[in-house]
Amino acid sequence: MLSLRELRQLEKARREPVLHFTALSIPDMLDTIRQSFFAEVRVPVGFCFTTCRYSLGYLLRNEEGASIFLHQILNRPQTPREVFGLALKHELLHMHIPPRVISGSQRQHPPEFWDEEKKIAPERDAAWKWIWENLWFCLQPRPKAERIEVLPQWKNVWSPERPQGLALDDRQKIARKRECPRPEYAGW
Ligand SMILES: [Zn+2]
Repeated sequence: MLSLRELRQLEKARREPVLHFTALSIPDMLDTIRQSFFAEVRVPVGFCFTTCRYSLGYLLRNEEGASIFLHQILNRPQTPREVFGLALKHELLHMHIPPRVISGSQRQHPPEFWDEEKKIAPERDAAWKWIWENLWFCLQPRPKAERIEVLPQWKNVWSPERPQGLALDDRQKIARKRECPRPEYAGW
């Protein structure tokens, strides 16, 4: 559940979109994915990068339709197509498969959600492999909240002094040290 402050931040981010540094056009990709997998979604769906909410990805429904927010950590030419493909499919899937109560608690990602995601996103494994190797040390799954949080050290990943971010060896060392479970089912 969003606080009023978070809601305001997201609405502000939606009105003030940032420059995209990605190697591919995210709005074009969003259109293609909608046409291929979500033809039933008729309302406008916007997209923007943000650092609001510290979350890797988020779908906000509003009166006009919906907006997909992805964290700025993904706004780089190095982020592969597979990661955006998975993230956009995941967020659009939220418009198709509603949350439901399981064992007394409301789940944003019921089992049928993950089943469907696997069906429509063959890039899933490749996307998570890249996230694991490149971003894991600054991500924290919050299974109860069903989201993946981006930790403040994300800014070190893409610092201007090190445009490629930390060396792969360093990232893997840090990720191993944290010994966290894989986040594929944490939600985002
Ligand atoms: Zn989700």
